[in-house]
Amino acid sequence: MAKRDYYEVLGVSKEASQEEIKKAYRKLAVQYHPDKNPGNKAAEDKFKEATEAYEILCDAQKRQAYDQFGFAGVEGMAGQHDFSHFQGFEDIFGGGDFSNIFENIFGGFGFGGGSRARVRTGSNLRYDIEIPFKDAVFGAKVEISYSREERCTACKGSGGTGKKQCPTCGGHGQVRQSAGFFSMATTCPSCQGEGSIIQNPCKECGGAGTIKKRVKIAVTVPPGVENGRKLVLSGQGDAGPGGVPSGDLYVVVRVRPHQYFERHNYDLYCAAPVSITQAALGGEINVKTLEEKTVKLKIPAGTSNGKTFRIRGEGVPAASGGGSRGDLYIKLMVQIPSKLSKRGKELLEEFSKTEGENTSPALMALSNIAEN
Ligand SMILES: [Zn+2]
Ligand SMILES: [Zn+2]
Repeated sequence: MAKRDYYEVLGVSKEASQEEIKKAYRKLAVQYHPDKNPGNKAAEDKFKEATEAYEILCDAQKRQAYDQFGFAGVEGMAGQHDFSHFQGFEDIFGGGDFSNIFENIFGGFGFGGGSRARVRTGSNLRYDIEIPFKDAVFGAKVEISYSREERCTACKGSGGTGKKQCPTCGGHGQVRQSAGFFSMATTCPSCQGEGSIIQNPCKECGGAGTIKKRVKIAVTVPPGVENGRKLVLSGQGDAGPGGVPSGDLYVVVRVRPHQYFERHNYDLYCAAPVSITQAALGGEINVKTLEEKTVKLKIPAGTSNGKTFRIRGEGVPAASGGGSRGDLYIKLMVQIPSKLSKRGKELLEEFSKTEGENTSPALMALSNIAEN
C-alpha cells in the first residue's frame, strides 16, 4: 500500500501548529486504539499510520526534513512500536501521559484492564549520535553520557519499608467503576497499580526506588551502518520501579556527510580531476581511497569526460560482517585549462590545425555523453 502523506493522515494543514497536530493525533489514537478495536487489523494499521505521522510531525527537526524531502528525508526516523505492549504508547507521550488522554476524554475510565495496567519494565530511552562518515563505514566506539533512572542503593529499589496491601484496591492494583452498561477497570490511584503501598518511604528516592543519575557508556557502532540506523542497547534504559528490569536504550546514528565520498548502498562514489592531455593520451593517476590507501588508476588513451572507473573492494563493508565489501567508483572530470601559457596556447593551436576543426559538427543525443 502506498504511504499516505503525514499531514493527510492526521487531517491537518501543512501550516498546522504543534497543538493542532497533537489534538488531531489524540483524536485518531482514541478512535483506533487497539484496545478499543480488538482483533481489528484495519484499525491497528490506522493507529500505526497515525502514530508514525505524529512522531515525525511533532518533532520540529523531523518535520522540517519531511517538508523538504518527503519520506526520504525521515526514513527510519519514526519509531517501531510493538503494539502488543502498553509501553509503546507511554513512550510517545513521555511516560504515563497516554492513559491521561483516556481519562480526560472518558472521565476517568480507562480501556482494557487486567494484565496491562502497569508497565513491567523501566522506560526505553533514546540518544542521538552524529558520527563522521568514515566511522560509519568502518565502525567505531563512541562514548556517550546521559541521564537515566538507576536503582536506589539506599533501599535497593524497594522504595522503603513497611510494605502493606493497598486498602483502596485490596491488592488488585485496579479499581472497577461502572457507568451505565459499562464496567471498566482503571489503575488504582492510591498505589498506581502496585497493589501495595509503602508506609515508610526511602529518604533517598522518596519511595520511587530509583534515582536519576548521569552515566557514561561506550557504544559500539558496527561497520557499514547507514544514516538513521537505530542501535538497541538492551537494559541500558531507565531502571523500573520495584526492581523490574531496566528498559532499553535506542541509539540513533546520524552520519555526517564526507567532503569527497558519497555512499549508495555498499558502494562509494567520488570524482577525480584529470588534465585534457591525461584524458587524451592516457596515463596513470594516484587516487586515495576512504581508508587513505593510495591506489593507481590506469587511464586509457581517449578517455571521455565523466567516464567512471571501478576499484573493487574499496567500498563499504557489509553490515552483516563476513568480509564482503562494496566497490569504489571514481568519475573522471576532465579539466579544461582556463589560463594558458603562451607556449601552451601555441601547442594547442597547432594541435587544432593538425586535427582540422569541425565547425559544423553533427548533433548527438544527450544519452551518448559518457555517464558511466
Ligand atoms: Zn530508595
Ligand atoms: Zn491500590
